[in-house]
Amino acid sequence: MKKTRLDRADGRYLYWYSFDAPPPAALRVEEQERGDDQIELRWNALLGEEVIVSTGRQDRTFLPPAEHCPLCPTAGEAAFATEIPSADYEIAVFENRFPSFRPDAPDAPDASPIERRAPARGVCEVIVYSPRHDATLASLPEAQMRRLVDVWADRYAELSARPEVQYVFIFENRGKEIGVTLTHPHGQVYGFPFIPPRVEQENAAAAEHHARTGRCLVCDIVAEEVSHGRRIVAAVDGFVAYVPFAARVPYEVHVAPVGHRPSLTVLSQGQRERFARLLGIVQAKYDALWGFPMPYTMSMHQRAADGVPRPGEHLHVEFMPPYRTKDKLKYLAGVETGAGTFINDTAPEEKAQELREAAPRT
Ligand SMILES: [Zn+2]
Ligand SMILES: [Zn+2]
Ligand SMILES: [Zn+2]
Repeated sequence: MKKTRLDRADGRYLYWYSFDAPPPAALRVEEQERGDDQIELRWNALLGEEVIVSTGRQDRTFLPPAEHCPLCPTAGEAAFATEIPSADYEIAVFENRFPSFRPDAPDAPDASPIERRAPARGVCEVIVYSPRHDATLASLPEAQMRRLVDVWADRYAELSARPEVQYVFIFENRGKEIGVTLTHPHGQVYGFPFIPPRVEQENAAAAEHHARTGRCLVCDIVAEEVSHGRRIVAAVDGFVAYVPFAARVPYEVHVAPVGHRPSLTVLSQGQRERFARLLGIVQAKYDALWGFPMPYTMSMHQRAADGVPRPGEHLHVEFMPPYRTKDKLKYLAGVETGAGTFINDTAPEEKAQELREAAPRT
């Protein structure tokens, strides 16, 4: 894997990751306007959690036609300048032009003991999975998924080492149903300046389990799933994909290593290969289920970057598709948003069987 870095005049960086292809030679990058937007953390005193206020995001490009895609490589002399000046790469990473955090976010002093603010200092990156506009992750060769795992591990290691980053969150939003603004296959990485509340909630549950049993919670969950197999969707040596016992949405799937692995960086080459293969299998099953690309959010949870040792940090990926049937979306309504309790109107064991039997298209 070869990494080529370009620093733009607007302060953002861009990396080309080359595996089999030679690294890019001549680079022409046209600078883009970077807005002077309000960006800060506001403390939601009622909930005891941060909210990111980032006003520039309203101006994001929304579902542009293919010829105006900012994630396609800039083509020819006269073409408009996209985010990526050269096509000579397999995976590209750049700092988001419409970020929720930025390394140079301004100070944000408290207005009062209730109206507390903090600088939104962190990093937001976009990972472009392929120079090809019409690729989907499931359609890419297995080798590309494998390369993506290497790039994820590299981003995790690099961002974890930055002083302002407390948590590296790797994720993908797929499908217009969940608000994706660009269809070109891509994912994102947020270098959070704090540990996000969903992760804190998992950490608290894992700490409680560890205090009681002396064991890692995810290790125990995975061992139980493997032991009876009722909710297993697919498995490869050392990794398993399952619908959780208390899935919050019908087609929720988690993918985790069977042994204790806190992060991507501790996986061996062979483990990365099998992890990539299993993620590809899950995506292929989703797409085979109803014959169209299943929209989802994919979130990766792994060890935090704050240096605090926690026994229950165990790498896993959570897929949350918004559909409850082929033509019905699951909306988050009053009980979910106002009371914080999910209602799942399906049996996780049945959904696991459906996905297990959904043959990946060849
Ligand atoms: Zn594109
Ligand atoms: Zn574990
Ligand atoms: Zn999790």
